Amino acid sequence: MARCPLCGRALKWEELVEQMLELEDFREILKDRNAFMESLGDFVFKCPHCGEEFYGRNLPAREAEKVFDLLNDFKGSIDWEERSVRLKLTNLLALDLMLEEWDRRSRGG
Ligand SMILES: [Zn+2]
Repeated sequence: MARCPLCGRALKWEELVEQMLELEDFREILKDRNAFMESLGDFVFKCPHCGEEFYGRNLPAREAEKVFDLLNDFKGSIDWEERSVRLKLTNLLALDLMLEEWDRRSRGG
C-alpha cells in the first residue's frame, strides 16, 4: 500500500496519478513503462493529509508498475478533459494483490 513517507497515512493511487496529470506530456509518458517509472520517481507529490512534499521514488515500485498496467489496460481510465482518474486504482490493486496471494496459496507455495 502506498503511504506518505512523512506522516505514514495511506495514499490513494488515483489521487497520486491525478497529481501527475499536470505534466504536459503525461499522455506520452503513459505509453512507455520506463518513461512512466522515471517520471513517477522524479515527480514531487504532495500528501493530501499533511501537505508535505515527497518524491515518487518513495512509493512502492511494484505497485507503480501495476498502476501503469491498469491505466493502459482500461480504455478511458483517465478523463483528460476533467483531469481525473476514473479507475479506482487503489481498490483494483488490493484485489490484484489478493488474487496473487490466493494463487500462491492454491499452488501450495
Ligand atoms: Zn503525509
